[in-house]
Amino acid sequence: MTKDGASAASANGANLVEVRNLVKHFPITRGIIFQKQIGAVKAVDDISFDVKRGETLGIVGETGCGKSTTARLLVRLLDPTSGTILFDGQDIASAKKDDLKALHRQSQMVFQDPYSSLNPRKTVGSIIADPFVIHGLLTGSGERRKRVQELMDRVGLNPEHYNRYPHEFSGGQRQRIGVARAIALEPKLLVADEPVSALDVSIQAQVLNLLRGLQREMGLTLIFIAHDLSVVRHMCDRVAVMYLGKIVEVAPSDDLYGFPRHPYTGALLSAVPVPRPSGGRRERELLTGDVPSPANPPQACRFHTRCFKAQAICSEDDPPLEFKGTRNMAACHFPLTESEVKLRLPAALTAGRNGSGNARGGAGPIADQSSSSSSSSSST
Ligand code: SF4
Repeated sequence: MTKDGASAASANGANLVEVRNLVKHFPITRGIIFQKQIGAVKAVDDISFDVKRGETLGIVGETGCGKSTTARLLVRLLDPTSGTILFDGQDIASAKKDDLKALHRQSQMVFQDPYSSLNPRKTVGSIIADPFVIHGLLTGSGERRKRVQELMDRVGLNPEHYNRYPHEFSGGQRQRIGVARAIALEPKLLVADEPVSALDVSIQAQVLNLLRGLQREMGLTLIFIAHDLSVVRHMCDRVAVMYLGKIVEVAPSDDLYGFPRHPYTGALLSAVPVPRPSGGRRERELLTGDVPSPANPPQACRFHTRCFKAQAICSEDDPPLEFKGTRNMAACHFPLTESEVKLRLPAALTAGRNGSGNARGGAGPIADQSSSSSSSSSST
């Protein structure tokens, strides 16, 4: 993320995605016939980050922080207001329609709601075959059907259900259909926007394990968006925290959960329930006040209206995103100290530093809370 680091990684092609000063403002207009712009919702406001090939980057934050808008910008379902998005060395921020078709072969998205993201009038076979139709691939007789059935099998669906309609499947199965469609063209990048938040807890782990398995087998680069911090910790190599359209902290997963530096990250982690607290008294940090409007965000540090460490400079000078003596980059004038983290998150320092926090390190599957197998298509 530093300029030097970014250019070095870029030069040897280590980064699949490089985002610089990305902005997306949605205009607010008044009037019916003669519309006049009277303001803008600053959904994404000058963010920069890299995604390395083969890694999983998590993006977390409260509802309305801009994480889903960021996801849609990365696959160009939305046009950015300004900024650059380098995908595999090519700037796609200003790509035209024909270039976007080629881009969509390489970057795909899994949507949050498996119910509304599938056309109810089409069979599952034709939904999964859509990418081949759009790109004119596998035109030989039976080729498409064979490949679609292979994909259904790969994501844990019964290939014999090729002619069924989405309403005949459960929520978990529908999300598997969405995943099969997303991987059909063997993309380099998969952007998963809250892929399990609409599913029962009992089947969330199965879908997460499916995504992790696919990432390993296909060498996918994954951007994983969620508001559930424990899910992100399990899935991701690095995590970016967003607040009101800005990235306020980026760090390797263990470092972020072990020693958060930005007060907002600390507050998010402090709000996570701990089933069996250990390590003494824990002072939970509750965020006070409402989230400010993204149409009129606070000056300088946007978190200063809710931050327990805020001082005068915080409302005058916007802090840059920079390293804070650890592997964390944070946008904060007064990052959390070890004693402040200890008071609020007694277990965090130990868990993060002995590497036990990130389940990816252990490479084991995420605990499945249902009794059925992850590959079963009968119940999910
Ligand atoms: Fe809090 Fe100031 Fe840091 Fe913003 S810059 S998070 S207000 S301490």
